[in-house]
Amino acid sequence: MPMSDAFKQRLFKALPEIAEHYGTPFHIYDEAGIRETGEHLKQVFSGIDGFREYFAVKALPNKQILKLMKEMNFGYDCSSIPELIMSRELGADTEDIMFTSNNTSPEEFAFAEQDGGCILNLDDISLIDKVPNFPELICFRYNPGPRRTGNIIIGNPVEAKYGITHEQVVDAYRKAKERGATRFGLHTMVASNELDYTYMVETARMVLSLAELVKAELDIEFEFVNIGGGFGIPYNPDQAPLDIDTMAKEVTELFDAFKTKNGFVPRMYMESGRFMTGPHGCLVTRAINHKDTYRNYIGVDSCMSALMRPALYEAYHHIDVVGKDNAPKEMTYDVVGSLCENNDKFAVQRELPKIDEGDLLVIHDSGAHGHAMGFQYNGRLRPQELLLRCDGSVELIRRAETVDDYFATQNYTPDSFTPGA
Ligand SMILES: *Cc1c(COP(=O)(O)O)cnc(C)c1O
Repeated sequence: MPMSDAFKQRLFKALPEIAEHYGTPFHIYDEAGIRETGEHLKQVFSGIDGFREYFAVKALPNKQILKLMKEMNFGYDCSSIPELIMSRELGADTEDIMFTSNNTSPEEFAFAEQDGGCILNLDDISLIDKVPNFPELICFRYNPGPRRTGNIIIGNPVEAKYGITHEQVVDAYRKAKERGATRFGLHTMVASNELDYTYMVETARMVLSLAELVKAELDIEFEFVNIGGGFGIPYNPDQAPLDIDTMAKEVTELFDAFKTKNGFVPRMYMESGRFMTGPHGCLVTRAINHKDTYRNYIGVDSCMSALMRPALYEAYHHIDVVGKDNAPKEMTYDVVGSLCENNDKFAVQRELPKIDEGDLLVIHDSGAHGHAMGFQYNGRLRPQELLLRCDGSVELIRRAETVDDYFATQNYTPDSFTPGA
């Protein structure tokens, strides 16, 4: 089931009023749902000492949302300078930030070490010499290559640009030691939107066995292993949710067994984005046009600039028509935006109740990789973001983009020169 019934109940009765007050379109996020998922995560992994979620900032990079994460004592997973700036502005300390960049630039390394630094997660062995001041705590991103079959979305690890190979692992930590590192972590991310909990258990098993290997070779006791993000959510009502409870139980057993065998045990970190916020957000948009040609089209007042996933991955996002929950799904529509690309469709040949102009459509599961992925192509601007608070109030947490925002990068002091002159 995509959006929870509780969120639906909280939201739908207030939606006409919210739409009236703020205008459409908007993404709206559910504070109560986000907190519930966060607390549940902490609870199921409470058997692992020092368990911590580092929220993947790129999934929903809004300061008010990041504040909720901090209140739950989560850290931040960043991979760009703006994400670092945002995290630090919210008061994140050194070890509250994992900096998991790839193809990292000198500017990014310089920025990462400012303001107390962060946990540097290196994507390649060649980057060791490019870190200006080597920190005492260092982490590497591991790519198992042919040792792991790919999850469907992230693809085959052999084809993934991320991380160091199995053969490079020992060398990487040896070199890091030579540069002065004394504390170590290990990171991997091999899945995206994975709904099979056993895949995540295998990932935990994989990093723990690598921790044993490095301990044997270099006498390094990892402080933490980070199993990455990629925890899936059911976008389609037919899909079963990820069984996080059973996953946590089996992963905890692996950590217990590791401790018994090795006399020490790393903490476990994860960096979920989608699982934390995906189902707790939706895009609310109004039907403004209806056209019948070779197909029946419903035109809405937002487009793929607000939610790229259907156009980008042909991803399914469930749609409700407010007030028509129990109406028969007697129509088959393409639900479209107004961008001049034919993949600008929120739904293709979807069975829905008969939609009238003015109806509010709720497009589910926009709480992660939704607004953040948007663009301005075709002069289509990104919508506002709202937060439904636990007390029922609604807060504007990002205004809609304006035409002035669109032109901002073309307002500058004129500069031209003639090469060779
Ligand atoms: C994108 C990303 C995540 C979050 O992925 P989700 O699918 O949202 O859980 C976590 N870690 C890294 C390094 C990422 O690039």
